[in-house]
Amino acid sequence: MAEAKKTEIKKIAAAKTMRKLMADHFYELDRAAKDGHPKVAWCTSVGPAELLRAMGFVVYFPENHGAMLGATRMANETIPAANAIGYSPEICSYLTSDVGAFLQGRTPLTDAYEGIESIPKPDVLVYNTNQCRDVQDWMAWFGNHWSKPVIGIECYRNVGDVTEVHVDGIAGQIEALVPTLEKVSGEKFDIDRLRDAVRLSRQCSDLWKKVLETAATKPAPLTFFDSTIHMAPAVVMRGTQLAIDYYNELLPELKQRITDGVAAVEGEQLRLFWEGMPIWGRLRDLATLFLELKACVVASTYANSWIFTTLDPGDPFRSMARAYTELFIVRSDPAKETYLQEMIEKFSVDGIIFHDSKTCPNNTNCRHGMPQRLQERLGAASITIAGDLNDLRCYSDEQAKTQIEAFVEQLTGRAKQHA
Ligand code: SF4
Repeated sequence: MAEAKKTEIKKIAAAKTMRKLMADHFYELDRAAKDGHPKVAWCTSVGPAELLRAMGFVVYFPENHGAMLGATRMANETIPAANAIGYSPEICSYLTSDVGAFLQGRTPLTDAYEGIESIPKPDVLVYNTNQCRDVQDWMAWFGNHWSKPVIGIECYRNVGDVTEVHVDGIAGQIEALVPTLEKVSGEKFDIDRLRDAVRLSRQCSDLWKKVLETAATKPAPLTFFDSTIHMAPAVVMRGTQLAIDYYNELLPELKQRITDGVAAVEGEQLRLFWEGMPIWGRLRDLATLFLELKACVVASTYANSWIFTTLDPGDPFRSMARAYTELFIVRSDPAKETYLQEMIEKFSVDGIIFHDSKTCPNNTNCRHGMPQRLQERLGAASITIAGDLNDLRCYSDEQAKTQIEAFVEQLTGRAKQHA
C-alpha cells in the first residue's frame, strides 16, 4: 500500500475551479445554441478568437472536443464512422473522431454535463490553416451539414523569420472576415472591443507562460501531463477575464509548491521534454509511468502553443497576425530547432521524447532528421515513440513502455557518469 501511494499523481487544488469553469463554458454554449442568442462561432485553436469575442460571439473550439473524444477514448469507436464516409484513417484523428461522433449522435459532453445532448450548432465557422489544412476540411464538413458560412485565414507554412510581408498578409485576411461576422452576429465591428479582447488574451497568455515556466525550477512543481489539463482555459477562454482569473489562482499554488520544495514527481531525477501531440487516451498511464521512473516531463512544444507574447491591444490586427504566425507549428525546421535549444537550456532538459503522431504529420517533427540534428549540434538525447493523438490503434503500450524505460535507464547512467 505504502508503495502504491508514492506513485500517485499529485492533485492541483485549482483543478476544482477549472472543472466549474469548463462546465459553465459548455452550458453557456449549449444555451446560446438553443436560444439562438448570442450567436455561436466555431473557431480553430489558433483562429481569430479575439475578433469573434469582440463581435459578441460565444466561441466553441472543435479541437478541444476532439481532445475530449481522445481522453475519454470514445474516439476509438467513432473514427470508423468517419472512415466509412470517405475520410481516411491516415488524416487527422481529431477530425475523424469528431465527424464520426457526430454521425453516431454522440459526444463526451453528454456524460460530463447533465442536460447537454449535443455539440453546439454553429452560426459561423472560422478557421486558420496555420496548423494544417485538416481544420479547414473539418469546418467545411460541418458548415456544409448545417449550411452555415465557413470563413478563414490561409496561413503561410514553414516560415523562417516572421516578416512584415507575412504580418501584412495575415492581418489583411483577418480584417476581411469582419463583414461576414457583422452579418452573422448583427453587431457592428468596434475596434475598442477588439483591443479589449486582445488585451485580455495577452494577459491570459502571459500568465499561462508563467505557469509553464514554474517547471524550470528543480524539482518542477508541475508536469507536461498537468499542463495538458490546465491549459484548457488558455485554449477555450482566451480573450476573457475568466481565463485570467483562473491562472491568477493556479500560479500562486505552483509558486507555493516551489517555496515548499514540493515536486510534481517525487525524487525527480531526470527532466524530459515532450515534442509533438499528446496521446490523449494514455495521459494517465504515461504520467504514472514517468512518476514511477522519477522522470519529470517538464515542458512541451504543445502546451507552449498557447503563449502569444506579441499580442498588442495598440495594434490588434497586426499583432494577432504576428502571434498566429510566430507559432511553433507554422515555422521552418531551423526556427523550430532554435526554439527547442532555448527550451532545453531554460528547463535543464536531459532528453527529448518525440511523438511520431500517425495522423498528425503537421505537429510531428521527427520525420525530417530533427532528432539527429539536435543530437549532433547539442548532444540532445532523444527517442521517438510511434503513436497518435486519438487513434490508439497506432499506439502500442508495451512498445512505448519498453522504449521509455530503456531511455530513462540510459539517461540515468549518463547522469551518473557525469556526476
Ligand atoms: S494540427 Fe494535427 S491534430 Fe491538430 S487539427 Fe491539424 S492534423 Fe489535427
